[in-house]
Amino acid sequence: MPIALPQLPYARDALAPHLSAETIDFHYGKHHQAYVTNLNKMIEGKPEASKSLEEIIRGTAEGPVFNNAAQIWNHACYWNSMTPAGGGAPSGRLLEAVNRDFGSVGKMKEQFAEAAKTHFGSGWAWLVSDAGRLRITRTSNADLPLKHGQTALLACDVWEHAYYIDYRNARPDYVTAYLDHLLNWEFAASNLV
Ligand code: FE
Repeated sequence: MPIALPQLPYARDALAPHLSAETIDFHYGKHHQAYVTNLNKMIEGKPEASKSLEEIIRGTAEGPVFNNAAQIWNHACYWNSMTPAGGGAPSGRLLEAVNRDFGSVGKMKEQFAEAAKTHFGSGWAWLVSDAGRLRITRTSNADLPLKHGQTALLACDVWEHAYYIDYRNARPDYVTAYLDHLLNWEFAASNLV
């Protein structure tokens, strides 16, 4: 069974004005779709064709198959990491974990923003659970927490295609909008195991 493009969890204009429908049209409709199309072409008729996306990611060394499979997973995580009228703060167990491991929600956001703004080149900023502790990490290109024994709670795409239509070169403004207006803490909480 071919790998399917995961459904966008909201309408294409739902994140405006922070991310425009045009950005989503390109980022989801073109980039994310292209990773799916490319992966399915590469694995057609091969043993990977009967595996799940996570199995392909875990079982493949860096290269075109890994890059496309990981980018499908990363983007699904990214779309779910945002929600219209997001931002704010977590509650319950996740709030306790954030306070325990960062000191406060504000300090966690500061670390996340710093990682996302200063990452050199294409990649991702993450809130992960690593051996029972929350941490901010970043990865280059298609690399992802799954490959490092970590569980992703939140993903922020810092490839230029994520923000160039709306923010041009101003990645810091995009990261601020992501953290203050779009962050989906409910999704993050659902990933806390
Ligand atoms: Fe992207």
